[in-house]
Amino acid sequence: MSDEITVPDELKGNVFITKLSELYGWGRKYSLWPMFFGLACCAIEFMAAAAARFDTGRWGMDLARASPRQADLIVISGTVTKKMVPKIVTLYNQMAEPKYVISMGACATGGGPFKEGYNVVSGIDQFLPVDVYVPGCPPTPEGLIAGYMAVHEKIQNERINDVPWYEKDPIPKAPVPLLGGPDLIDPRHMDEIRARVRAPQSAAVGGEPEKEDA
Ligand code: SF4
Repeated sequence: MSDEITVPDELKGNVFITKLSELYGWGRKYSLWPMFFGLACCAIEFMAAAAARFDTGRWGMDLARASPRQADLIVISGTVTKKMVPKIVTLYNQMAEPKYVISMGACATGGGPFKEGYNVVSGIDQFLPVDVYVPGCPPTPEGLIAGYMAVHEKIQNERINDVPWYEKDPIPKAPVPLLGGPDLIDPRHMDEIRARVRAPQSAAVGGEPEKEDA
């Protein structure tokens, strides 16, 4: 289906008469509702960006929502621990499409100063589809606003006939990792993990199964 509409010559200079997708993107980008959600020190800058001095209300983003059901943008603003990541993915899955993810700061993007700590994951993009990365430790409110602008640009360039949320088939949910032993387990690999646990020890590490004594 084409999203082109016919514009009469006398209206061609009118900025409001343009391609349907551009109107669609223009309307959506100025009505993003971020989720009220913070993880660590970066969340202070997230709050500063929304307050009076930087005032993200200028782009229709002044209301952070307390429920994932009412939000379409999640800003991962801080250190992502192994204990927290199953909750973050669950919250993401509870948001309705279309939805967007910003990875804010060094911790959310790669573990930051805590990289390879026993309890920290090395980047939220191992679990969620990140749309925009904002660098810094912490990023300034101006940096976060630049990230918002990048999300706006992405939304503006989306086309109605390409976006997945109008497709007949549901969009698959992000797999929620499980906290098992000292590490996270991807539930998509559960059958393989179970098979390895049940296998004799030597087979599980790639060797021949031990022979039982006669
Ligand atoms: S990136 Fe820096 S400021 Fe942000 S949560 Fe990590 S340590 Fe804190």
